[in-house]
Amino acid sequence: MTSLAERLARPEIVALEPFDIAANNAFAAPDAIKLDANENPYPPLVEGPLARSVNRYPEPQPAKLKAALAALYGVQPDNLVITRGADDAIDMLIRAFCRPSVDAVAICTPSFSAYGHFVRLQGARLIEVRLNDSFDFDADAFLGAVSGEENLKLAFICTPNNPTGNEIDPALILKIADALPETIVVADEAYLDFSDTTSLTPEAARRPNLVVLKTLSKAFGLAGARVGCAIGEPDTIAIAARALPPYPIPGPSVDAALASLAPSRRSIHVERIARIKADRERIAQRLATSAIVRTVRPSGGNFLFLQVDDAEGLAHRLRSLGIRVRFRPNAAPGGVRVTIGTDAENDALLRAFGVDIETSPHRVAEVVRDTRETQIAVAVDLDAASPRKVDTGIPFYDHMLDQVAAHGGFSMVLTCDGDIEIDPHHSIEDCAIALGTALAKALSDKRGIRRFGFKLPMDEAEAEVLIDLSGRPYCRFEGEFASTAIGDYPTQMTPHVFRSLADSMGAAIHVKVEGENDHHKTEACFKAFGRALRDAIRCEGDGLPSTKGVL
Ligand SMILES: *Cc1c(COP(=O)(O)O)cnc(C)c1O
Repeated sequence: MTSLAERLARPEIVALEPFDIAANNAFAAPDAIKLDANENPYPPLVEGPLARSVNRYPEPQPAKLKAALAALYGVQPDNLVITRGADDAIDMLIRAFCRPSVDAVAICTPSFSAYGHFVRLQGARLIEVRLNDSFDFDADAFLGAVSGEENLKLAFICTPNNPTGNEIDPALILKIADALPETIVVADEAYLDFSDTTSLTPEAARRPNLVVLKTLSKAFGLAGARVGCAIGEPDTIAIAARALPPYPIPGPSVDAALASLAPSRRSIHVERIARIKADRERIAQRLATSAIVRTVRPSGGNFLFLQVDDAEGLAHRLRSLGIRVRFRPNAAPGGVRVTIGTDAENDALLRAFGVDIETSPHRVAEVVRDTRETQIAVAVDLDAASPRKVDTGIPFYDHMLDQVAAHGGFSMVLTCDGDIEIDPHHSIEDCAIALGTALAKALSDKRGIRRFGFKLPMDEAEAEVLIDLSGRPYCRFEGEFASTAIGDYPTQMTPHVFRSLADSMGAAIHVKVEGENDHHKTEACFKAFGRALRDAIRCEGDGLPSTKGVL
């Protein structure tokens, strides 16, 4: 029985023999002598990770990345095909299914400009359906516009919609798919990570006429790597993938995507997305007070669509201030689209709109640190008390680092994926190094920073910590522990942690601890360190607390 995709696909695609890939490295034994693909045997003359294997052709559909994306989106690997960004997935679908001049594609306007571009490139027919005045998707109007269309192969629906930001109820997209069983409905979810709408991936995985597009460009910060995918029922995906070139995904992009999707990175991605969403709402409220702005559209993306009286004039004026925003006179004439940026970028935007800013930029840092033993990502914000999320794999150590952040009064998101099945040593030490590096980075020029100490009793135990963020690492630890471990945490690691912190922060740290109970003593050290840090990092004016003028 032929699948829906086979019936809808261009006859050339159905007849096409799969590309005979000589360099299919996936099937080569690791020690095979590879003389089959006319590759250059010598690595390229570049430094760093690129040098590793880029002289060889990449796997056409890298299995590890496919598994990681399938896990991320909650589908099976054969439900997805990796493409060079979601752009390439759009092109792939149109080339696989649309005969020039004969077949048609329906899109909404205003929406993402790539749909129309690739339809024209293929010479297919374009049916444009305007969103209503408030940019809502009107399913009945959409069905009305395509009714009687014999060769409607694809219908693209973008949710949240670019550039207007509105989310489209997934039930309406399913209604379109139900009403058009001989058309592949493509839900473009490039921005769904920033919205509260549910994804259609589970539906796409089982419906032959529904495909979902995803990308790592927006939510995962990998626009330059060009990694996206199309998700659908395996037959649909297999037919569509025939339109791809033999090696669509460059090896360095695969490495970048895999590193970014590693479990240790997950919580920082979640926090970044939450932060962009919160910034979007805050900026929307502020911009709504600007005399220039008529309406700020509600948005489920990492951007806002502003309706203004003179969009073109505004875009030009912003450009002259060094701020680029998106203005498309033909598709969305009455508005400009602005992306949510960093604190400093957002502040510059608000200032350009004549909105008062009273926030001062937060001292933040993100550090990633990977070795063969541990993969760590840590984010700190010295000017926010939350979120605090620590996952080192060693529960007692999580508790200790959380004490540092809680008593230090700063936000810490730290995840470590380490070789704790061998020994907790690497994870404990490397987390301390990564955390110290992040703190040093967040403090940057150390303006307004004091030297400080704190003495803290905890039941019978007492700990004293002195800190000088001097730029000169030095650690002194006085204290003994009677037991070898607290849970999975070896007590002898405590002096080690403070040494690692002193080295990576460029700080003098003196710790003195006395008492009976090792749990109390250890906890008192970390709490006192947090307290001392709280005072040492507090901003007081912008004078440097050293006669040398530089720390
Ligand atoms: C940015 C964008 C894409 C393309 O993303 P890439 O993966 O970078 O090609 C697809 N769809 C929409 C709606 C977009 O805005």
